[in-house]
Amino acid sequence: MQSRIQVIRGDITTMQVDVIVNAANSSLMGGGGVDGAIHRAAGPALLEACKVVRQQQGECAPGHAVITLAGNLPAKAVIHTVGPIWRGGEHNEARLLEDAYRNSLQLARDNDFHSIAFPAISTGIYGYPKAAAAEIAFHAVSDYITRRPQPEQIYFVCYDEENAGLYERLLTQQGDEP
Ligand code: ADP
Repeated sequence: MQSRIQVIRGDITTMQVDVIVNAANSSLMGGGGVDGAIHRAAGPALLEACKVVRQQQGECAPGHAVITLAGNLPAKAVIHTVGPIWRGGEHNEARLLEDAYRNSLQLARDNDFHSIAFPAISTGIYGYPKAAAAEIAFHAVSDYITRRPQPEQIYFVCYDEENAGLYERLLTQQGDEP
């Protein structure tokens, strides 16, 4: 049986899935890295939608997630979640990173989405060590989906070689388990 989790090397903005996840910052006003790429590809409607969310709900705290339209992206929607900034590992970073994945999956499910694509949240500008972040991401998602049928298909979209290698290894290990 094919795994519900797949690892893709590439650019998350091209993913033809129900919803892609943005590694946003708390302001929801765009930024660098994957956030900048998503806003560029989606066009100005995405920033307008983020402004509305911000007016209604205020900033998005680390570990939380909000949903908007997707503008010109092939996806139907964008979930914006905020990962933790790495500050040495003793500031609840692991828990907040897990929450970012879990709350994004929950929001996808609440919106009846079947497929979702994640970037490697917090592993760029926010400085989370990639191997540790990949383990948390993989286990948070695996744990969530074993107990729920939806979303059916989860993609980890790795932009850099290091993350791609780490995620591919985790997927292989999972496949080896009885
Ligand atoms: P954060 O602030 O959460 O660290 P970044 O955007 O700086 O977010 O980085 C998160 C991850 O997103 C990094 O591993 C980076 O390689 C990756 N990334 C950057 N651009 C893209 C993209 N277009 N598609 C998928 N992943 C991307």
